[in-house]
Amino acid sequence: MSKVVVNQETCIGCGMCASMKSDIFEMDMDQGIAKVINSNTCDDADEAIAMCPVGAISCED
Ligand code: SF4
Repeated sequence: MSKVVVNQETCIGCGMCASMKSDIFEMDMDQGIAKVINSNTCDDADEAIAMCPVGAISCED
């Protein structure tokens, strides 16, 4: 099953993914970037993947 991944180098911490899909993403306040908090499939994260301004969210097999 594929899983959602946030590229920590690319993420600019805009918070959009966490506000759109709080069941999948959470902001790491210490590091100022998003982190994935569960292992939902990529289908659930499609919208956030499309909306991330820097393309930091992807799916991995
Ligand atoms: S939408 Fe993209 S840039 Fe913004 S916090 Fe989420 S992963 Fe980071």
